[in-house]
Amino acid sequence: MNGCLFCEIISGKRQTERVYEDEHCLAFRDINPQAPVHLLIIPRVHLGSLNEIDAAPDGLLHRLMRAAHEIAKQLKLDQKGYRIVINTGPQGGQTVFHLHIHLLGGRQMHWPPG
Ligand code: 5GP
Ligand code: ZN
Repeated sequence: MNGCLFCEIISGKRQTERVYEDEHCLAFRDINPQAPVHLLIIPRVHLGSLNEIDAAPDGLLHRLMRAAHEIAKQLKLDQKGYRIVINTGPQGGQTVFHLHIHLLGGRQMHWPPG
């Protein structure tokens, strides 16, 4: 989608080191990390947010979650634990309107989140 930051990362117009990619999604480090490990996992198709999930190809969210788990295993986060976050809409804290999963790990997480 024109003007979408994450679509520019997918197309290669914006350079970012990819830590994981498959046919459905790719993952890269958040520019403003909130934990020792803070990755963003994004689908290759543009969806503005989780609110548009009905327009997604069947099984896309499952693919994204499998990718998150795969990355967590690769980074050896799966034993101690990690956190998955999908901020949705302005009050949910979403600032980039291309659906993405935050994968956070490497420190103790707290509850409730801010
Ligand atoms: P949101 O607030 O929408 O849930 O998450 C968007 C995330 O994208 C934020 O954590 C922000 O730090 C990250 N971000 C914004 N611009 C860039 C960028 O140009 N490169 C990378 N790697 N991350 C970005
Ligand atoms: Zn996009």
